[in-house]
Amino acid sequence: MKVGFIGLGMMGKGMAANLQKAGHQLVVFDLRRAAAEPYLANGAMWADSPKAVGEQSEVVFTSLPVPADVEAVALGPDGLIEGMKPDTAFFDMSTNSVSVVRKINAAFAEKNLYMLDSPVSGGPGGAASGKMAIWVGGDEQQFNRYATVLGAMGDQAAYIGPVGAGTIAKLVHNCTSAVMNVALAEVFTMGIKAGVPALELWEAVRQGATGRPRTFDRLGKFLAGQYDPADFALRLLHKDVSLACQLARDVQVPMRLTNMALMELSEALNRGWGTRDSRVASLLQQERAGIAPIAVPAEKIKAVLAADTK
Ligand code: NAD
Repeated sequence: MKVGFIGLGMMGKGMAANLQKAGHQLVVFDLRRAAAEPYLANGAMWADSPKAVGEQSEVVFTSLPVPADVEAVALGPDGLIEGMKPDTAFFDMSTNSVSVVRKINAAFAEKNLYMLDSPVSGGPGGAASGKMAIWVGGDEQQFNRYATVLGAMGDQAAYIGPVGAGTIAKLVHNCTSAVMNVALAEVFTMGIKAGVPALELWEAVRQGATGRPRTFDRLGKFLAGQYDPADFALRLLHKDVSLACQLARDVQVPMRLTNMALMELSEALNRGWGTRDSRVASLLQQERAGIAPIAVPAEKIKAVLAADTK
């Protein structure tokens, strides 16, 4: 199939590579032309604008930073809406806002085009390996029509419900992650300051009742203290949690812990850490706790995790 792809960053690059591996003809566009070079070398076609991608593609995917980027690519001058052929579909794999998703969907519907929100989860590693969840909201027939293409990018592509449903699932998922990271930073700095070294503390609690389902394995990066380069940038998690807090206000749900997590992320952003990995915010709690930055050697962390598989 002739597939358009816009946004070849940390997530997009793996997904586009998997589409190409599956034999699809790619038409690509990114603000950074250099990001497209590997795909062009493998036979992809370059397009000069989202409109040009739309004109040449049977289906289009985007993986862009923030809602304003998706809106500009979809509805702006030289946007997808100006180029896509009637009865074709656009899947946005960015983590977008529910209101922007619905706005784009409504504008597309007027032109007999489909827009499906399709945020993903799995990180850059999952995008590259294809072990990635894709949560799709929108027209179910279009989900079924392009299921094979989605399957080339993620082994867990699922139809969630009407437009916006995929985004809601994604925001629930990422809020869980943000709140858990703040909670874990809090309890771990207490344990370390009270006298148990980070590695020993982690090895102990991950085998307890809460730990056995591997709740604590997410602490690997926290223990290593390595936040550069980012797998998932702080500024993007800040955007996701902001979107979730906005959604919660819209539907009148109090979200105490999530708002606290957002404050933590805002404070970290103000340190100038926006492009560092999102887990970098835990340094603030280490500071407040008055402990030295945690830096367990990565090979020791790996050894603990590997012991489980023996
Ligand atoms: P990124 O910043 O690495 O990549 C974004 C790409 O889009 C870049 O190549 C950039 O040049 C390009 N771009 C930006 N604006 C553009 C425009 N107007 N036109 C064309 N290209 C444009 O970001 P990422 O980490 O790959 O994240 C992309 C999306 O996926 C975000 O919405 C993010 O929240 C979401 N996400 C990220 C992760 C992760 O772990 N990194 C995981 C799941 C979901």
